[in-house]
Formats: sequence, structure tokens, C-alpha cells
Amino acid sequence: MTAVQIAEELARLHRLVSWFDTPVPLPAEAVTGHACVWCLIPADSTAVDLESAADYPQRGCLSCYSARLAWHISWYEWHSHVAECFPCKQGRMCFVGRGRRILHELTAGPAGKEPPACFSCHRTLLAQETAIPVRWEGEASFHLGYAHPGGCARKGAAL
Ligand SMILES: [Zn+2]
Ligand SMILES: [Zn+2]
Ligand SMILES: [Zn+2]
Repeated sequence: MTAVQIAEELARLHRLVSWFDTPVPLPAEAVTGHACVWCLIPADSTAVDLESAADYPQRGCLSCYSARLAWHISWYEWHSHVAECFPCKQGRMCFVGRGRRILHELTAGPAGKEPPACFSCHRTLLAQETAIPVRWEGEASFHLGYAHPGGCARKGAAL
């Protein structure tokens, strides 16, 4: 059953990337599926078809698409560790949590993301601070973000 689970997990991540990680509004070249929605290079045979409710297919080049997939995969791997890890939830040092965070942060630049910031105090998470991934429910959809665990202790401090 492993293969089935992997396929389902990939399909779920594919939908997330297609729906929540594409530019709004799309640049004109990308609306018709002729260019990558992210970098606008012309779509070739390696381009990935994204899920779309539009009349035309929307596509991502392999490099842009895999960078965004890696961002989502590493976020969920970090999140699933923290959900089961008491020290991480308490904001204490955890080598596994730290390792997953570092792996995730490496994917941010290639995926075109800003450096991770706390959803509560909006400060960029510093390397020496502890941080946890949080799934934040908005009105229309949800957002994968980050927070300082146990409150933003140094909120307002000059940095
Ligand atoms: Zn691209
Ligand atoms: Zn941990
Ligand atoms: Zn904070």
C-alpha cells in the first residue's frame, strides 16, 4: 500500500502548489499555458501540468515546480515532527526539529519565498531562536507559516 500512499500524498501536494502557490493574477503568457507560471520560460515537454479551473492548462517548468514541491514537503515533514515532539512544542532545543527546520529553510530561496517570519509578531525568525511551523486558518483558505513557540518573548526588542 506504500505506493498508493505516496501517490496520494503527491497528489495532495500537487493541488496545494497549483492552488496556493501560483501568482495572482497570472502573467499573460502563463494564462494560456505557453509559459511557466513562475519564471515565464516557454513551456516544453518537461513542463508540469498544474491543476486549474481555467479554460487553458497552466504549467510550471520542472525547476520552479520541484522547488515549490520541496518547500511544501519539507514544511510538512517539520510540522509532523513538531506535532509529536514535546520539546519542540515547548520551544526547547531539539536536534531533530532543528534539522528539519534547516532543511526547510534551504528550500525557501529556490521556491521564491521570503525568509520565514513569525505569523504573530511578524519578525523574521533568527537562526538562534526556536521556531515551529504553524498551519493558520484564514477565511477562504489556509496558510502554512511559522511562529515563536510559547509566545513572542522578545517582541519589540531592538534587533
Ligand atoms: Zn519556471
Ligand atoms: Zn523535536
Ligand atoms: Zn513571534
